[in-house]
Amino acid sequence: MNNYKELHKLKDQMEKDNSLPLKKDAGKLVFGSGNTEAKILAIGEGPGAKEAETGLPFVGQDGKMLDKLLILAGIETKDIFITNIVHHRPPENRDPLPNEIQAYGKYLDKIIEIVDPKVIITLGRFSMNKFLPDAKISEVHGKKIEVSVDGRHFAVIPMYHPAASLRNGKILEAEKADFIKLKDMLQSI
Ligand code: URA
Repeated sequence: MNNYKELHKLKDQMEKDNSLPLKKDAGKLVFGSGNTEAKILAIGEGPGAKEAETGLPFVGQDGKMLDKLLILAGIETKDIFITNIVHHRPPENRDPLPNEIQAYGKYLDKIIEIVDPKVIITLGRFSMNKFLPDAKISEVHGKKIEVSVDGRHFAVIPMYHPAASLRNGKILEAEKADFIKLKDMLQSI
């Protein structure tokens, strides 16, 4: 089975899983989108209203900002698969809770296994903490950190969440610099 088919099968399983804690009243499942064979995987936090309505990640304001940042890094849609740490919208866009991160985590682990990326760009602290539980985003943003999970090796590059850049001009400047630097980093990976 190719990645596309495997991911579709996983999405079907997720759609049927009534144990997922945020499922009730959340809108659509936001599984992920992009090139299922990509070597770059981006992981955000969780769907917002627009994403829950469309079933696609990063299609609202944060998504517009992410698109601009990806252009700075020379990353095109064909180069990337994008998903989230939780795949249903948390009520009132609140932060995902530890039990929710854990419940969706088993599917996220499967997505990582299937896509098998060389580079994982984490967007915000929740996805960063999945791989770097003790890291502080203010200290590690824009850095390449080699990670091994279950015998699988990839580079994790923690980035600020695009929503943080929309709120704070200083973070926006740092984030733009990180994505410009990412362009060179990707060439050497
Ligand atoms: N913010 C996220 O973290 N993920 C999305 O899909 C949209 C906004």
